[in-house]
Amino acid sequence: MQNLVLYRKYRPQTFKEFFGQEHVVKTVMNEIESGKISHAYLFSGHRGTGKTTLARLFAKAVNCQNRKGAEPCNKCPSCLEINKGRAIDLIEIDAASNRGIDEIRSLREGIRFSPTFLKYKVLILDEAHQLSKDAANALLKILEEPPPYAVFILATTEAHKMIPTIASRCQRFDFHKLSFEDMIKKLEWVCKSEGIDIEKEALTLIVASAEGSLRDAEGKLNQILNFLPKGKIRAEDIKGILGLVDTSLPRELTEIMIKKDKALALKFLNDKIEEGVDLQEFIKSLIDYLRKILMLKIDSKLIDILLPGETKEVKQTAEKQAEKFKEEGLRKTLELLLEAENKTKYSSIQQLPLELALIEAIEE
Ligand SMILES: [Zn+2]
Repeated sequence: MQNLVLYRKYRPQTFKEFFGQEHVVKTVMNEIESGKISHAYLFSGHRGTGKTTLARLFAKAVNCQNRKGAEPCNKCPSCLEINKGRAIDLIEIDAASNRGIDEIRSLREGIRFSPTFLKYKVLILDEAHQLSKDAANALLKILEEPPPYAVFILATTEAHKMIPTIASRCQRFDFHKLSFEDMIKKLEWVCKSEGIDIEKEALTLIVASAEGSLRDAEGKLNQILNFLPKGKIRAEDIKGILGLVDTSLPRELTEIMIKKDKALALKFLNDKIEEGVDLQEFIKSLIDYLRKILMLKIDSKLIDILLPGETKEVKQTAEKQAEKFKEEGLRKTLELLLEAENKTKYSSIQQLPLELALIEAIEE
């Protein structure tokens, strides 16, 4: 199986199939249905949250010859051309690699003529904040007087870097990181459709490591299928593939720190390194875990948000550990670990910065 195959195969073809971003989808659908679409949109948000996917859906829906409500039919010539990636009136430019004035100039030439096949010429400009200053100014000129058949969709992960005069000409939508539940739902659907037998705990690990990016989650699932093409996929088997640290390690080390057992803390760390645990990942997972304990200490109601998909026992352990720490001690420990994380990159003995940080944290 090729990488990213799942991502392409299960790219939503209708708004109904689009997971998450309900606040955006609803408004966009209303505009399409009522025929009151804008000439310029700004889709802003974290990577892998569906910006270009929704932009393509939009392009298909406004051009569909047999639309039902806002939904494209996926059968008419316009829909088929777009689905096959052949529609010449749907122009996609990645501003990260085409950031110069020449590209925007040729774009201006291209946009001067009305669409040849579709009703609207839709231009999707990905990573729009990366345009050079001249290119951005040229784009602004186009946006000031857009031809009636043109729709611009600018996608960006860094809206604050867009020049304000461009942003102000666009209808802006902010895409949120996908929720844990939405990502699980989507992956469950993909696995079911593909006949993949996978433990719920394994799905949880994949989603947790994707940090709100559906594209990353689907890419990781793909990666796992390359390694484990047959049989049931278990959480235990995929940790190595994902480069994940067993979530019980930071929890155990935290327990040792609470008991103030310096010798055991150092032994635990060195045993794990000998077992082949990646030190950087280990520090990262410890920082991540203690950050959650600090959050819990400040507001115990956050437990389900901080540890989604975890068992009752794990949550109870976390709650108990939060009780045993003092807020100030946790803050100090986190600061020490952040320093150690940095120093590890340059240390001749790789685990030394973490060892020193643990000793200091326990002594405090
Ligand atoms: Zn159609």
